[in-house]
Amino acid sequence: MDSQSNPLHILVFPFMGHGHTIPTIDMAKLFASKGVRVTIVTTPLNKPPISKALEQSKIHFNNIDIQTIKFPCVEAGLPEGCENVDSIPSVSFVPAFFAAIRLLQQPFEELLLQQKPHCVVADMFFPWATDSAAKFGIPRIVFHGTSFFSLCASQCMKKYQPYKNVSSDTDLFEITDLPGNIKMTRLQLPNTLTENDPISQSFAKLFEEIKDSEVRSYGVIVNSFYELENVYADYYREVLGIKEWHIGPFSIHNRNKEEEIPSYRGKEASIDKHECLKWLDTKNINSVVYMCFGSMTHFLNSQLKEIAMGLEASGHNFIWVVRTQTEDGDEWLPEGFEERTEGKGLIIRGWSPQVMILEHEAIGAFVTHCGWNSVLEGVVAGVPMITWPVAAEQFYNEKLVTEVLKTGVPVGVKKWVMKVGDNVEWDAVEKAVKRVMEGEEAYEMRNKAKMLAEMAKKAVEEDGSSYSQLNALIEELRSLSHHQHISQE
Ligand code: UDP
Repeated sequence: MDSQSNPLHILVFPFMGHGHTIPTIDMAKLFASKGVRVTIVTTPLNKPPISKALEQSKIHFNNIDIQTIKFPCVEAGLPEGCENVDSIPSVSFVPAFFAAIRLLQQPFEELLLQQKPHCVVADMFFPWATDSAAKFGIPRIVFHGTSFFSLCASQCMKKYQPYKNVSSDTDLFEITDLPGNIKMTRLQLPNTLTENDPISQSFAKLFEEIKDSEVRSYGVIVNSFYELENVYADYYREVLGIKEWHIGPFSIHNRNKEEEIPSYRGKEASIDKHECLKWLDTKNINSVVYMCFGSMTHFLNSQLKEIAMGLEASGHNFIWVVRTQTEDGDEWLPEGFEERTEGKGLIIRGWSPQVMILEHEAIGAFVTHCGWNSVLEGVVAGVPMITWPVAAEQFYNEKLVTEVLKTGVPVGVKKWVMKVGDNVEWDAVEKAVKRVMEGEEAYEMRNKAKMLAEMAKKAVEEDGSSYSQLNALIEELRSLSHHQHISQE
């Protein structure tokens, strides 16, 4: 087959949430940089940020195209315009959002018929995409967007159910068979495992379908690199038997070419990028704590006050990204806080240019909710972390950072809570900040973090582990597409 006239065509389908769309755009750029024709499928209101991210890229890709399918808000019982998890008005609408996601199968298949790609890379939240691709005789690859560690931990948890062997929610149990003797409590587990209410159970069913589609699909792409979690990459492939390609960190593959650190990711930043850099430039190396909880987490005002008090008591410089709950009122800072911390602290209300901030040399630590993108961005930046997991698979990622990589310390969150974080007191915040910023232990964690950052860069360089895996993946798909071509003749 003439690869010039009929290049490999991959259709990528990101889930409508920033934590999924951001890495998928990076993945699309990666494929495109290898001469692959890429079509990104999304919905009308999710298209502008994707277009913007591509326009802002220094490398211009004329082989990436965006196609939209309608998002059935009203049909699923959602308010008009609610096309992203970010815009779900309250937790009670979450089931309707996922009902809308199911309704996307038919328009997605119509698009496949029209586009005729050679392969589909669809987010985990579209388990039906495996069947859709099969109808067209093409492979479906799953993109989970999380670590090997959490993929393995959640499989072991499901398979062995070790949490059923303890008598209380706060007793520690070990995750059976998972390397590393990792211990957790029942309180830290997702409600799909521990609750019997209809909503939790409908999500448990969705996760069953996801696991099943993972096994039935052609394989899994993981945004990680071998050197970071080799034990778990091996376990995933060899013990759990899943075909995988680890090709991350996606975002830094093209860095050493023309690509620079992006200031636009997901949304327009709520602070001027130059102003932010100017502020950071006035600070000493490794002297600022950066705190951000991803794109979805909210805290109550009472928790925000504790955070403010903890940051102030630590005595360290900080950048704190805050999203408040409008229904919780405006009173979320202790009186006189901004005056007292003037020059020492910067509060970003809304969306921050996270990657740009993290990679500034003034950043000395990252307080993170342990969403996988954030953890990986922290690894790339070579900063130690304070882990503050909230929901999803974040408690697993916390274990990876604090007990396997040993580049961070837990703030001490006890309970998994959907979207709104659990309560942590100010002195725990102060203690954790001091622990990663001061003394011998902090020095060791920083050195380890810097080593991991070096490894991440090597993984994406020529002949690095992720670089080689990416080439192998593209070659395999090219060869498959050749056979598809022949069988269609
Ligand atoms: N992000 C950002 N600015 C913010 C909050 C988040 O740029 O103020 C980006 C962050 O860099 C990451 C993504 O949004 O790439 C969040 O993904 P993650 O997996 O960390 O968490 P999620 O939002 O899915 O919980």
